[in-house]
Amino acid sequence: MRRDFFSEEHELFRSQFRRFAEKEIAPKVPLWNERGMSDRETWRRCGEEGFLGASAPEAYGGAGGDFLYDAILMEELADLRAHGLMLSLHSNICRPYIETYGSEEQKQKYLPGTVSGEILLGIAMTEPSTGSDLASVQTRAVRDADGYVLNGAKTFISNGQIGDLFIVVAKTDPSSVPPHDGISLFLVEAKTQGFVRGRKLDKLGLRGQDTSELFFEDCRLPASALLGPEGAGFRMLMQKLQQERLCIGVASIASCRRTLADTVAYVKQRRAFGKPIASFQNTQFTLATLQSEVEIGQAFVDRLLVAHVRGDEIVSEVSMAKWWVTDLQKRLTSECLQLHGGYGFMREVPVSEDYADAAVQSIYAGTNEIMKVIIAKRMGLA
Ligand SMILES: Cc1cc2nc3c(=O)[nH]c(=O)nc-3n(C[C@H](O)[C@H](O)[C@H](O)COP(=O)(O)OP(=O)(O)OC[C@H]3O[C@@H](n4cnc5c(N)ncnc54)[C@H](O)[C@@H]3O)c2cc1C
Repeated sequence: MRRDFFSEEHELFRSQFRRFAEKEIAPKVPLWNERGMSDRETWRRCGEEGFLGASAPEAYGGAGGDFLYDAILMEELADLRAHGLMLSLHSNICRPYIETYGSEEQKQKYLPGTVSGEILLGIAMTEPSTGSDLASVQTRAVRDADGYVLNGAKTFISNGQIGDLFIVVAKTDPSSVPPHDGISLFLVEAKTQGFVRGRKLDKLGLRGQDTSELFFEDCRLPASALLGPEGAGFRMLMQKLQQERLCIGVASIASCRRTLADTVAYVKQRRAFGKPIASFQNTQFTLATLQSEVEIGQAFVDRLLVAHVRGDEIVSEVSMAKWWVTDLQKRLTSECLQLHGGYGFMREVPVSEDYADAAVQSIYAGTNEIMKVIIAKRMGLA
C-alpha cells in the first residue's frame, strides 16, 4: 500500500541513504557479524553524509527534520540486515535525552559530536540483578564536594565497546519512597577514570552488535555530569521510552518484510515432488497469512509514526505495537525457516540469522510482558 505520509523529500532521503548503505554498509555486515561490532569509520561516514543528524536540532549541526527521516534509516538498515550499526540507538534512543533534558553547556559539548559521528552514544540501565524492575538498580552515585562518585555494574549494554558517552541510570537516594524517586541520570564519558568496559557478550543473534558489560569503579563525575534534576531519572526514562519502543516496531516490521520476501522467492524456485514448493496449499496459506499479518502490523506502525510525529501521547499504543509486531516477527521467522527445509537451518542462509535475531526483539526495550503490564495499567486494571 502507498505510504503517503512520506513526502517527496523523505523518499529522496531514502534513495540517497539506500545508495550509500548498499555501497558502504552492506559489504561490511559479514565482517561486523564476525567481529561482534561495527566500526568507527562507518559511523563517521554516516555523520559526514548527514545520516546521524537528520532529526537533530539545527542549532547543534543537525538538519532539524522529523522522526520519519530516522524511521527511513531504520527500515533500510533492517532490510539490509545491518543490525550491527545501531543508528536508532544513537540518534533516537540516546540523543533525545540530551536534547530534551541537557543543560545548554551539555548540549554544546556533546550534540555536535553526536551528529558528526565523533561521539557515539549508549544507555546503561540494565544490571546483572535487575532489568525489568528498573527502580531496583543498585548502581550508586554519591554526592561529594566536587561532584559524584559512581559505583556499580551494568550489563547487556549496546554500543558498549564502541560508545564514547553513556547515559547511566544510578541511585542518588537509595532510601527514597517510592524507590524510583531516588533515581538520577548521568552523562558518563568513557574516558573517565573508573569507567571500565567489561566483556563483549557472546549472543545467540544480533552478532554484529557489541552488547557489553560496563563497570564503574569509584568513577568520579563532575556535578555537571548530572542530566536533568536529581531524582527525576525515572520520569525522564518513562517519557523517552515511547520513541524507543516505536523504533523497535518500525525495525521489526521492516525485518518481517525482508524475511518474507526472501522466503517467497525461495519457495518459487525450490522443487519437491516434481513441482515448486510454492504450489503446495500449505505453503500458500502460510505465506498468505503472514503477508496479511505484516500488512496489518505495518498499517498500525504507520499510524503510530504519524501520531508520534504529530506529538501525540501514544504510550499504550506503542506498547501494543512493540509486543504484537515482535511476536509476529518471531513466529514469521520460525515459519519461514521451516519453509526453507534443512537449508533454513544453515548459517549461510539468511533466514537462519533472521530467526536468531528475532529472539531478542521481545526482550529488550522492555519485555513484551512488561508491555502488557503497561497496557493493563492504562486500562485501569492495576
Ligand atoms: C541484545 C541486547 C541488547 C540490550 N541493550 C541494552 C542497552 O543498550 N541498555 C540497557 O540498559 N539494556 C539493554 N538490554 C537489556 C534489556 O533491556 C533487558 O534484558 C530487559 O529489559 C529485560 O530485563 P532482564 O534481562 O533483567 O529480564 P528480567 O527482568 O529478569 O525478566 C525475566 C522474565 O521475567 C518477566 N517479568 C519480569 N517482570 C515481570 C512482571 N512484572 N510481570 C510479568 N513478567 C515479568 C520478563 O518479561 C521476562 O520474561 C539489552 C538486552 C539484550 C539482550
